[in-house]
Amino acid sequence: MTKNKNTIEEEEEDNNDELDLYDFLEVISGKIDSVKNQIEERKEDSRQQWQRTKDEVEEQKRLLKIELEKHIHLLSENLKKPNFIRIRDKISFTIGVANTCFSPLIAVRWPHILPIIYTIQAFYFITLRFLIYKQKHWHYFTFDLCYFVNLLTLIYLWILPSSKILFAVCYSLTHGPLALAIVLWKNSLVFHSFDKVTSIFIHMYPPLTMFTLRWILPVDLQLKYYPAIVNTGSKLPMGTSMFYTIIFYLMWQILYYTFIVYGRGHKVASGLRVTSYTWLLNNKKGFVSRLIQKLGFGGPNDGINRYKLFIYFLLQFLFMLISILPVSLLYYQYMYINVIFLCAMFTVSIYNGASFYIDGDIPKDTVDSVRLTKRIHRMSAPTIDWDAEKTLSSVVDIDIDALDAEFERLSVDFKSKMIELRKNPNNMTLRHTLTSTKEALIRIKTWSSLVNTADGLAIMKKSMAKQHEKELLQRKYEVDEILKISKVQSAIDLCFLMDCTGSMREYLHATKTQIYQLTECIRQLYSIKPNLAFVGYRDINENLDKLDFTDDENIFQEFLTKIQAMGGDDTCEDVFSGLETVAQLSWSTPNRLLVHICDAPCHGQDYHEFQGTANDNYLKGDPKNRELSTLMFSIKRLGITYCKIPLNETTKKMFEEFAFVFGSISEIYVSDPTCLIKRIIEKTSSIIQSCIESTISSYRNSNKQIKSYTLFSKEPDWNSLEIYDVNVTEIIPPNTIDDIFHPLLISKTNGKIKIAPNPFAKGSIRFAFYGQYSSDDSPFVDVVFKEFASTDPKANTFIVYQEHLEIQAIAQFLAEQFNAEQQRLFRNFIPIIYADADLIQQTINPLKIYQVERRMHQEWRKWNNNSGGVSLSEYSTILQAFSHWTYHITSGRLMVVDLQGVKVDRAYLLTDPALHCNDLLRFRETRTNLGVKGMRQFFRTHVCSDVCSKLNIPMLNTGSNSILLSRSDSLLCNATTKTTDILNVQTTEENNFEPIDKNQLETIENFELC
Ligand SMILES: [Zn+2]
Repeated sequence: MTKNKNTIEEEEEDNNDELDLYDFLEVISGKIDSVKNQIEERKEDSRQQWQRTKDEVEEQKRLLKIELEKHIHLLSENLKKPNFIRIRDKISFTIGVANTCFSPLIAVRWPHILPIIYTIQAFYFITLRFLIYKQKHWHYFTFDLCYFVNLLTLIYLWILPSSKILFAVCYSLTHGPLALAIVLWKNSLVFHSFDKVTSIFIHMYPPLTMFTLRWILPVDLQLKYYPAIVNTGSKLPMGTSMFYTIIFYLMWQILYYTFIVYGRGHKVASGLRVTSYTWLLNNKKGFVSRLIQKLGFGGPNDGINRYKLFIYFLLQFLFMLISILPVSLLYYQYMYINVIFLCAMFTVSIYNGASFYIDGDIPKDTVDSVRLTKRIHRMSAPTIDWDAEKTLSSVVDIDIDALDAEFERLSVDFKSKMIELRKNPNNMTLRHTLTSTKEALIRIKTWSSLVNTADGLAIMKKSMAKQHEKELLQRKYEVDEILKISKVQSAIDLCFLMDCTGSMREYLHATKTQIYQLTECIRQLYSIKPNLAFVGYRDINENLDKLDFTDDENIFQEFLTKIQAMGGDDTCEDVFSGLETVAQLSWSTPNRLLVHICDAPCHGQDYHEFQGTANDNYLKGDPKNRELSTLMFSIKRLGITYCKIPLNETTKKMFEEFAFVFGSISEIYVSDPTCLIKRIIEKTSSIIQSCIESTISSYRNSNKQIKSYTLFSKEPDWNSLEIYDVNVTEIIPPNTIDDIFHPLLISKTNGKIKIAPNPFAKGSIRFAFYGQYSSDDSPFVDVVFKEFASTDPKANTFIVYQEHLEIQAIAQFLAEQFNAEQQRLFRNFIPIIYADADLIQQTINPLKIYQVERRMHQEWRKWNNNSGGVSLSEYSTILQAFSHWTYHITSGRLMVVDLQGVKVDRAYLLTDPALHCNDLLRFRETRTNLGVKGMRQFFRTHVCSDVCSKLNIPMLNTGSNSILLSRSDSLLCNATTKTTDILNVQTTEENNFEPIDKNQLETIENFELC
């Protein structure tokens, strides 16, 4: 350009007079160009300037937003504090009660003040509610019609009091959908709850205010402040008022639709935000949802479903239409009808409040209640922190949109965490979570990029199938191993050590005649016969009967037939010879039980209270000079469990001496010879059971080391203990049987704990600590923290704990269903209750994870295990039926086993169940899922009782089971009377499972087994 300009100038100089039009044009165009250039430059400048300003504004906006968020955060943090909550609830209580008492008074005496009171309260309640809901991600609730109507009312009162249209609309909407929502949403008048008082206020106060203005405010004041009322006159023209109401309603509806479905659709769909729409639809027992199901729009409630949304809007519209019909026809025209209507609505809310207090109902608007939180979370479905693979169980299920939404959510999360980390680079927890978020991001990215192409999809499908197959094989192998181990571990050596003098004849006879029941029962329970041995001793120098171990009960019986119960010179017997022989037997299996039945002590003054030689010829002790300690150690060394059946008091001192050397010698209580074998069977099975359990639990972990804790049974001094901040993970309980076959969802909150430094108990796989726990802002409650005992890092991961929690949630859900079924069928049923359990993770040390549960003080029992073992001494027909029923109700896909916990007055409180699931890859971390084989193990030993038959579940009467069934008959002590009784009582256990004391224990056991 400059060059061009120069040329022109040159030409000007050279040919000044030849300046023709062309040149002129040139010049002009040059000038224009330069001007244009200047303009461009200026424009560029201003554009930059503008950009700068814009950036500045953006920056300002951003800073402001951060500032605002900080304030909201601070405020919400404050809102969470107990003190604040207490003050808040006190205020709400006061306002609630004062409102009910004074509002009518003010309305009558100073009606013109009521709008002011309404406005002040509206600001207080709605702002606070928004903030509270915001922190729970429920603030989309505040886009509901109710708030819109409140807003309209405020606009009418303060901005457009002369608008006839707005007046009509406000009158219709406040008296229509707003007031009736009390019925629909079951609002209840519960003064102590801020949330409930707010709800009542939002629905009740606007119609009350409108009513007061219409009917009570004197005409001169109406004219002065609210001219629209006077102008409208005594009749609300129905057509126009309905028309405008509908217009306003649709206005709201469109806004709502645009915002919820388009604007923030992804957030609602991903479940990050809850709206009244998702809430009503997902509340499966709710009216709306049921209606929609009936209309044929059922199906999974995944995010926003256009059809359902449409139906929902239509229903809401109809509801609004019907509710505003009587407004212009009746309420506006007749004061008394208006009064009656408002009173009726208020009465409904009082009634709902009454059911809250009296029935302990949980009405829909109890947003503070835990259950509801869980339910809300359930449908808002935050798939937070689940591994991407977990949610994407098969390629067919992959939802690209959901992946994208998740990706977006994670990236936002990632960014904010990065900022936080920069501020605080030493926060290891944050670093930890960041790494995992990053991994998840990469994973999702890979997934979605692969899934987007057909080839990629095929590759993924193939690799997934391959992986799946590999894992399944691995699991099958594990299950087989576990079952094999459990079979090996159920072999038992059972030795009878019996005093064979004349007085013992009856017991010898009982052993001889009933031994078949024992072998058969053990064979049924553990598919392996016990090895039997017998040592019968008499007095010094009298002969001793010895039969080494055999698994043939015929040989055993024949041997016993030959034994003569005779001899016994003095009272004392040669017990030492018996013990000596026991130590020489060929003990070989993992379980070794010695049952010592006697009615007299051994020789020696140390072992009895007898005086003189009348009862004991060898007061100085064993004539053969054998040492008690040597004898005892030779038995102890063999790993034998020593049980005594003393038939009278004379042996007491002897066993005390024995126990002093041997350690614990447990006693089997036998009231008469006919019950002898039955008691021994119980003992045998419990020994086998616990052996299997400890082996299986140690099989779970390659590393068999146990954490080194010293047990300390006393509760600590809570005041001196440090308080830790923890992250709380809750499992969202399933809603339907179908839900349990998908990974359950979780939600996260915060809490605080205090924990005893030492555990007070150790179970087969866990340590239990005394603790106190507070979630959100509730006061500390006594709980138990459970931590895995194994030192294996693989057994201590979050995912293992989470699976346990998930299993418990499923068992809890099934137990609830089972109880409902029981309640339907039985007069007095005994509910099965699974403890509510959460997972907590210390924020300062994420490796410290515990399962937290309510404390149970009663004696711990175990009714069955996951490899078909069933406790005979704690046999419960109801619990056995429960396991059977879970199999039935899930169509054989799943079964709850490992039933353990405590039996309290009229309820079973259970915990730590195991699940067999036909999908072996489910619950694989916990390794208790033995799949179909595990279920088969259960049925091998399950005897269908009358509880099963009353529940109408198919009885399993296979050949082997019928033998087991006859087990109970053959074992009974008072056979004739009891069997018929069982079949006639309504619930098997109802009269027999009252609080347990020793005397009753006998009846229960008889009842259960005989
Ligand atoms: Zn059954």
